[in-house]
Amino acid sequence: MNQTGTLAISGGPRAVTIDQEPLLRWPQVGLEEVAAILDVLRAGQLSVTNRSGIVAQLEDNFAAYEGARFALGRNSGTAALHCAYFGAGIGFGDEVIVTSYTWLATVAPLLHLGALPVFAEIDPLTLTLDPEDVARKITPQTRAIVPVHMWGHPADMDRINAVAREHGLKVIEDASHAHGSLYHGRKTGTLGDVGCFSLQASKAMMAGEGGILVTDDRGIYERALVLSQSPGRLHQELTDPELARFAGTGLGLKYRMHGLAAALADVQLKKLDALNAVRNANHDRLTAQLAGVAGITPPITAPGCYRGAYYEYRLRYDPEPLGALPVDTFVERLQAEGVLAARERYPLQHVQTLYSDAVLFDEGLPWGIKLPRRRIYNRAGDLPVTESVHARLIALPAFPSAGSEALIDQYARAIKKVVAGSLA
Ligand SMILES: *Cc1c(COP(=O)(O)O)cnc(C)c1O
Repeated sequence: MNQTGTLAISGGPRAVTIDQEPLLRWPQVGLEEVAAILDVLRAGQLSVTNRSGIVAQLEDNFAAYEGARFALGRNSGTAALHCAYFGAGIGFGDEVIVTSYTWLATVAPLLHLGALPVFAEIDPLTLTLDPEDVARKITPQTRAIVPVHMWGHPADMDRINAVAREHGLKVIEDASHAHGSLYHGRKTGTLGDVGCFSLQASKAMMAGEGGILVTDDRGIYERALVLSQSPGRLHQELTDPELARFAGTGLGLKYRMHGLAAALADVQLKKLDALNAVRNANHDRLTAQLAGVAGITPPITAPGCYRGAYYEYRLRYDPEPLGALPVDTFVERLQAEGVLAARERYPLQHVQTLYSDAVLFDEGLPWGIKLPRRRIYNRAGDLPVTESVHARLIALPAFPSAGSEALIDQYARAIKKVVAGSLA
């Protein structure tokens, strides 16, 4: 294998020559989705106001897939998280331990309950919440822990659940990257008290826009409902008299799922395991070829874990073997070879304005709430492991299509070529 060759950025031939766009295209929508949409249109299920029709069908199918008692379809993953947090009983002044390395929707809904996000470190290999740092950040006000199964890799749930049990905390999983991921044979989303999934169009199982939560806990389910559903479904389903007295109004939010979104997601669910198998084979093919290459660490998958719909691929870059070559230069060299590489696209959350002391405690949140002042970890430097890993991540796309072997092999050769050409 010729790994040296002139780098494309210096005028050499590009390593990636295959037309990638058709292989990387996502979401994949076929005739089954079109047929399902037409059925729902013809049946007139454009607003499903109680638990019935296509929305109930998706909820039943997803609950069965997950092995959960209850599933609740919502109009976004953000809404599912808001419902799950309220469902789990999180309220004003409670502290909730979260990761900073996630999409913003994991964290921001907590503020609408008056809860305080407390950021903990990630494990540098799996990029998921570090249970030891979680334990260090528990205070008497802590109420819950929120692991995110980043890029499909399950968080260290045995240890997170052990910490939660010891301190009487709830565990809310954000499984928006991890549809169909497995942790010692069990589905992500069912490993804590309640699990949430985004079904937004870029996600591996999608509804265009949508979300869904699963739980075995009837109390969490009913609280999630009362927060965000209109009376039709509340009269039908609420059994807890404390909640049922609000059935005439709910609590004022409406997060129910669109019938057309449910139709899309229900078809996508049927395809999920087969598509995940393709994604994983592609993921493993690239990972195997990158083992032992200087300057990069391919993703690891811990024993007993399956990445399911891993969503996107992440490499860690280590500049030392490459003469301290800056990560941006390395990425530019990859891009010149035709690799769709980029720096990490998720900004860290703990340094965002929304979580600054000034906003949380002094001026107050824009909707007029000031949180009780506490020690939190919201300044640059407070999460040294997370910050250093994050600065070195390189994003590659997911490879969602069968028949991508030649493209993946070109990606591996391109990466090795850039490494070899940068060592010289
Ligand atoms: C996409 C995503 C969400 C939010 O989902 P929406 O459906 O876009 O509201 C939440 N958490 C994570 C980790 C996500 O990737």
